[in-house]
Amino acid sequence: MDIDFTKEELAFRDEVRQWLADNVPPEIRKKTSYTIPLTKEEQQGWERILGRKGWLASHWPKEYGGPGWSATQRYLYDVERAFAGAPLPSPFGVSMVGPVIMAYGTTEQKQRYLPKIAAGEEFWCQGYSEPDAGSDLASLKTSAQREGDDYVINGSKIWTTQAHWADRMFCLVRTSQEAKKQRGISFLLLDMKSPGVTIRPIVTIDGHHHLNQVFFDNVRVPVENLVGEEGDGWTVAKHLLQFERTTIAGVADSKKAINNLKELAQEERDGGVIMGDLPDVRRRLAELEIDLLALEYSNFRTLDAVARGESPGPESSLLKIKGTELQQALSQLRLEMGANRSMPWLTDQTLAPPAFRHAATPYFFLRAATIYGGSNEIQKNVIAKMLLGLG
Ligand SMILES: Cc1cc2nc3c(=O)[nH]c(=O)nc-3n(C[C@H](O)[C@H](O)[C@H](O)COP(=O)(O)OP(=O)(O)OC[C@H]3O[C@@H](n4cnc5c(N)ncnc54)[C@H](O)[C@@H]3O)c2cc1C
Repeated sequence: MDIDFTKEELAFRDEVRQWLADNVPPEIRKKTSYTIPLTKEEQQGWERILGRKGWLASHWPKEYGGPGWSATQRYLYDVERAFAGAPLPSPFGVSMVGPVIMAYGTTEQKQRYLPKIAAGEEFWCQGYSEPDAGSDLASLKTSAQREGDDYVINGSKIWTTQAHWADRMFCLVRTSQEAKKQRGISFLLLDMKSPGVTIRPIVTIDGHHHLNQVFFDNVRVPVENLVGEEGDGWTVAKHLLQFERTTIAGVADSKKAINNLKELAQEERDGGVIMGDLPDVRRRLAELEIDLLALEYSNFRTLDAVARGESPGPESSLLKIKGTELQQALSQLRLEMGANRSMPWLTDQTLAPPAFRHAATPYFFLRAATIYGGSNEIQKNVIAKMLLGLG
């Protein structure tokens, strides 16, 4: 693996840097830098700008509306994006259902859905988890009964991120009770405006509305919205999860977060001393930077495999564990550096710089990072089984 960038790659990086400097709206740049959640209008507005440039689906091939970049170009783009203060696109369309439709969808499904995802015109959400099926996803009960040319859906999905923003959901449903648990599951695409869909908000510990419970009461979905064969949904779902776990590693955004912390440590004082001169702050920053470097090089190995046409494989579980632990540690250090200035109930806004004032939101939200995308305990089981040959 050669990790020196070529002259062409460096020229590409400069072009991306310039375009982002000219096009990321200042309000979005500001909010993203302080990790303040965006509204749907802000998120979609930015995604449409990217879509018009052809960079929203940054890892898609040209034939489906992506830029056709190499793995190295995608990496360079992602680092530039994070440093320009641009948010990641909502993952459910471009990173999850899009690649699934490319791999398993019919020609009609590709034509119907992919252009709208690549243009930022339609938001998606992921309907996998249920009140009694999270880590043990194969126990899901939401049923899809065939009636003529439709499936009729009944049941409920929970923890559905951005369901209240979404135009469509990709979901796992039970189409057979008879087969082995995994064999009775199918992968369906549904319109969130279908009669019988109800969305109930769940407000998380950071005080924001990201999550929902979604109820289905005799929701009719045309059979043509089935992806892959009936009963093959488990295979489709596993394909998607591997990609979900590599994107969750979040190397580019953690690089930006460390950079922000180092700048903050030089600007802010604690008891009259520049924070960057405090041994504890220096030690913790150094430890996190070393961990990030190790994660980045492991991610390079995965990118190299993907560039050679291989799937990310069980290594994506390693990236998910280390990446999310690092995100939590970074948000914790920012909160602790701010100390009383990071208190979310601080009412006098002039008492703390914005980086500290907004430190509690990501700190609280990122407690969930070791749970979503398959909990870190489950990832450790995967590593034990697939990489260490245990169990
Ligand atoms: C912020 C957030 C966003 C989410 N977004 C979505 C979404 O958009 N769509 C969606 O479908 N889901 C989403 N989820 C759900 C997420 O995928 C589940 O929460 C996760 O899979 C864990 O399932 P559970 O909550 O039912 O916990 P459980 O499966 O009940 O697990 C409880 C605890 O037991 C541990 N555990 C369970 N089984 C084992 C085992 N075999 N070995 C060792 N330990 C085990 C788990 O690690 C966990 O600590 C989201 C969750 C969060 C927190």
